[in-house]
Amino acid sequence: MPIFVPHTLIMTLRIDIVTLFPEMCASYCEGSIVGRAVRRGLVDIALVNPRDWAGGRHRTVDDRPYGGGPGMVMAAPPIAECLDSLLNRSRNPRLLMTSPQGGRLTQRGINMLAEDDHIIILCGHYEGIDERIVELYKPEEFSIGDFVLSGGELAALIVTDAVTRQIPGALGHAESAVSDSFQGEGTLLDHPCYTKPAEFRGLEVPAVLTSGDHGAVDNWRETKRIERTQERRPDLESE
Ligand code: SAH
Repeated sequence: MPIFVPHTLIMTLRIDIVTLFPEMCASYCEGSIVGRAVRRGLVDIALVNPRDWAGGRHRTVDDRPYGGGPGMVMAAPPIAECLDSLLNRSRNPRLLMTSPQGGRLTQRGINMLAEDDHIIILCGHYEGIDERIVELYKPEEFSIGDFVLSGGELAALIVTDAVTRQIPGALGHAESAVSDSFQGEGTLLDHPCYTKPAEFRGLEVPAVLTSGDHGAVDNWRETKRIERTQERRPDLESE
């Protein structure tokens, strides 16, 4: 069923992903829930390449690290020019930077971002970004986990996806985001879910789910959420 969102209530969230590899991000932003939210005008995603602000014949965006060592470092000037231009486009831009050294991304952080109206996500690549960008622009650095990626593009897409599904109207059912894992008061994991066929390789769907008793279904789901959280993530309960 199409969801009707009155036009006066639509506040488009703008997300600028600053990346040397916009083509890596493009198809993800066109598909599924994110793509549909873009087409509905709920989110406006721009893929911005600092190379467009790089000077010189070769439009150089990286160079060898001062002090020696392997790899390349993303140079400050084109990124600074690019950020100056993006930061000027709204009154309250929020600047994020992908980094394994940043604070760990959480659902709570995502929910806060979904209240913003302009988010800029800076993606590092190679060895990272010249530290003076951090000193000058003081981005909020975030990590998606204690491991190292080749670049910030996946991390930026993770934020884009997770934030987009929190925007009212982005999901088919307004409720589905609320009952997801990590959402709501108690920070519980989600319950297991099933669809047709009712029997598969000898395994039957739990009878309560086909009973038509909505109260019993709700109780079963709540119990499963609590059980799963205790089994898999006992640490969540203390948060
Ligand atoms: N030398 C850096 C890692 C560079 S990895 C260090 O050890 O801290 C290249 C880029 O990928 C980073 O600049 C960052 O933008 C991105 N990246 C890597 N791992 C990440 C993670 N866990 N979370 C978010 N971004 C990450």
